[in-house]
Order: sequence, then structure tokens, then C-alpha cells
Amino acid sequence: MDAPLNGKAASTDPRVVIIGAGFGGLAAAIELQRSGHTNYTVIERQADVGGVWQANHYPGARCDVPSIIYQYSYDLRPDWSRRFGNHAEICDYLRDVSKRFGVRPHIRFNTSVESATYNEGSSTWSITLADGEVLDADVMICATGQLSQPKLPDVPGRASFAGAQFHSAEWDESVDLTGKSVAVVGAGASSIQIVPAIAERVGHLSLIQRNPNWVVGKMDWAPSKLEKTLGKRVPLFLRAYHNLIWLYFESRYPLVLNSMNPVRKVWERILRRHIAKVLDNPQKAAACTPDYPLGCNRILLSSEWYETIARPDVSVVRSGVAQVDANGIVCEDGSRVDADVIVWCTGFKATEYIAPMEVTGRDGLNLRDAWSDGPEAYLGLVTPGFPNMFMAYGPNTGSLTNTLVYMFERQADWIRQAIDFISTTGVTLEVREDVNREFNEEIQARFQNMVFTAGCPGWYTTDSGKVTAVWAGSHVEYGRRVAHLDPSVFVRSH
Ligand code: NAP
Repeated sequence: MDAPLNGKAASTDPRVVIIGAGFGGLAAAIELQRSGHTNYTVIERQADVGGVWQANHYPGARCDVPSIIYQYSYDLRPDWSRRFGNHAEICDYLRDVSKRFGVRPHIRFNTSVESATYNEGSSTWSITLADGEVLDADVMICATGQLSQPKLPDVPGRASFAGAQFHSAEWDESVDLTGKSVAVVGAGASSIQIVPAIAERVGHLSLIQRNPNWVVGKMDWAPSKLEKTLGKRVPLFLRAYHNLIWLYFESRYPLVLNSMNPVRKVWERILRRHIAKVLDNPQKAAACTPDYPLGCNRILLSSEWYETIARPDVSVVRSGVAQVDANGIVCEDGSRVDADVIVWCTGFKATEYIAPMEVTGRDGLNLRDAWSDGPEAYLGLVTPGFPNMFMAYGPNTGSLTNTLVYMFERQADWIRQAIDFISTTGVTLEVREDVNREFNEEIQARFQNMVFTAGCPGWYTTDSGKVTAVWAGSHVEYGRRVAHLDPSVFVRSH
């Protein structure tokens, strides 16, 4: 199967299909556009760009990474309304970027992919859309995101609820919450933005949280006039500000190592004291104090969370949901929460990655079967059995200590190098089994020395305990490892 590097020279630009027009898909499209690979199509199931940011329009939706580094490093915007931009601004930014970099005409909106099948005879991908149309591609880039499939708990009676109910990522604006009894299930990153944003207007809010998360204050403020002016007029200022914040975030990486346990323990003690003080109510404080190590699950940012829970018209139950009936929720601890509206902030099918889409690779291998023991890929970009298939935000590339946008840019660059290689040699690239195995053994071993394997709720690990969501190293390390495409990691065929 292995072919010489100087195989047939391709005379045409490979046909590329990118699935998804969120941050990752757009980064890939921009990279291709800028490097002259213009034979690409982006398939997007929503009506506009943005991916999760387009989908998640719940009240209070806002970035939890400073916007200065939560934007493409080659297109820094100086005028975010606050340090952490809001949902509308982020969508505007991405819409604007898609226009200015010329990728928008390549995007087919309101179009869903049902399945993708690799054809060994022609070394191409057949990508079947929901309306039955089939697109042929030499290269497929899956940029479907990790947080795009809402997850509702599989509890009895959900359909019997008489009031309105919806998932946080499918917010129903037609439901007026004013004066209503609202039950919010879940206390993750979505919930901690929604609860403070709606508490004032609802009649009573009941939070049902099975495992409370660690929440730290969000240092958010509106930029000063001087900062805005300098940002607009002095590009060097904006670049320096970006780089400085990026470096500051990068310096936090050692905090996720087990060797930093003593530091995290001190921090936990400070946070426990803060929770008790702000809530000033032993029942609420007990319900809101996590019992797993800080950093094992995502550390959430909010300066309003505990203050909102302290309100007399907000109650909190520390329990899972056992059942739903016409009037509300029966919790696992036997308590009841009656409600007019239920908001399910219960997260996403995060460990499935692109597997909900039917993807069939070489020898009829289904991606779901290939990943039955949890998704894995080499550098999060390519997986054995799926030639010329690349991923943005694939397994183990989640960014915790810095910004995901950096990962997207680096991944887009690596994928572009692969497409350069395919286009100049005419070969098909499939990552070697041994390379993929060694890489994954290396990172799983490294996780044993990191806080993520300390045992906690959340979606960083599969049910069997394999860490699949997050990157094991610093961002500098990731950037270094994907800086130059090494053709020897692939089996190459014509
Ligand atoms: P999440 O972090 O997965 O949280 C889901 C919540 O639902 C958890 O509290 C979970 O409890 C709870 N839950 C699930 N099933 C339950 C049940 N049967 N009974 C009671 N509780 C149940 O989901 P998310 O808040 O949507 O956030 C997902 C990710 O999206 C975040 O980690 C972040 O990466 C991203 N996000 C980012 C932003 C931002 O940048 N601004 C905003 C929102 C989300 P357990 O912990 O007990 O399982």
C-alpha cells in the first residue's frame, strides 16, 4: 500500500468538503482560501456561521475566555464591548470574518450531512446530504465540534411534563419566563450564565444540581476609551495585548499537573470560604460546594453565580433528576420541584465527537465501531482507517488552560500542509496504526499525572475513564508538534 513520495503528480487542486462553519471549520476554510486551495465547499446545517455560538443564544450567553484571545490571531478586533464578548458579538465577528476572507460564497447553509463513505476504488469520500444529494470529495474535514449534540437525561416521564421545556442550546424565545416557576437542571458553563440572567424576571427559580462545580470570579469589564482608541489606531498595541494575555494564559498550564496539588488545595480552601460567606446559608453552601479536586472538571467563571443562588427566590437541590411528571421533577433524593418551565442545562454528547454522523472508512470500518473504546486520533487530527479525513477539534484537543482558537489555527495549518502534500504528490494519506497507538499511549500515560484523572463528573472522560476531551500538554507544545507535517506518519497510497 505504501507508495513512494514522488508518486503521481497531481495536476488539480483536491476537492475538499469541510463539515461545519464554526470557529474550527472557518479556520480551515480561511487557511485553504489564503493558500490558494479554493476548490472547497463548507456544509453548515444552520442558517449562518458560528457553530455552537450560533446555536447557543440563551440569555446571558457570553464567552468565558477573554475575547482578545478568543478570536483569530490574524484578525484581531479592537472593539469588544467587554473583556468577555457576548454571543451576538461573537456571531457578528465570525460572520464578518467569513465575508472578509472570501469563504462565505463557499458555504452551503441549512444543509446537513447524513453520512460519509470512503470509496477505496477512487480514493474519494462520498458525502450524503439530508436531501439525498451526494458530494464527492478527495479530502473531508470534519469540523462538527464537540458540543453540538444536546444531551437530555434519559429519565422517565420527560414527555409528560405539562409546561414548556427546552435544552439550553435550543432556547425557546417564545416562552415568557416572567413570574414563572422555573426549574433549571444542571450547573455547568451554560447554567451558570443562564441562572443569573433570568433570576430577576422569573417568579421562583429552582436549581437542580447533581454535582456542583468550582466557580471563580470573572474579571470582566468594559474596555476604557483609551484602550479602545489604542486598539483601533495602533495595531501594534492590539497585537502586544493579544500576545501578553495569550502568554499569561499559557503560564497557567502547570496548574493542571498533579505536582501542583498543594497549590490547588489552598485555592480550594479559599473558594470554600467564599462560597460559605456569600451564600450565608448552610443548606445552600452544602449544595454548592464541590467534592472533587479543583480543575478536574472545567473551572467556571462567574461573579454572579453564588450571589444569585443566595437570593431568597432561588432554591437549590443537590440531586439528580429521577423522574418528570406533569407538574415538575422528582429528584433522586426524593424531593420534588414543581415548575411551569424546565430548562435542561444538561450538556452535550461530548465524547461522541463526529460519530453521530455515519462515517464509514476503509474496509467498511464504521467510525463509531473504531471508537467503541472512546474516540482517539493522532494529534486530534487524523485516525487510522479513515484516509484523507481530517478533524478540527478532534479527540484530545480541547483547550483548558488557554484558547481553543489557537488550536483551530494550528490544526488548519497542519491540514493545509497535508492538502499541499496530497495535491503535489497525488497520494492518499492515512495515519499509521503504530503512530496513532504510540501517540495515544503517550498522552493517556501523561493524564495519570494530571488532575483530569482524579475522578470527577463531567465530559472530559468516557464512562470507562479514558480522557478524550482535553489536550495533555501546553499550547506551545501542541503548536510545536503540529508545526511541520511529517509525511512518515502516514501510510501513503494512490
Ligand atoms: P455541562 O458542563 O456538561 O453540564 C451539564 C450539567 O447537567 C452538569 O451539571 C450535569 O451534572 C447536569 N446533568 C446532566 N444530567 C443530569 C441529570 N440527570 N440530573 C441532574 N443533572 C444532570 O454542559 P454545559 O453547561 O452546557 O457546558 C458544556 C460545555 O460547553 C462547557 O464545558 C464549555 O466547554 C462549553 N460552554 C462554554 C461557554 C462559554 O464559553 N461561554 C458557555 C456554555 C458552555 P453532573 O456534573 O452531575 O453530571
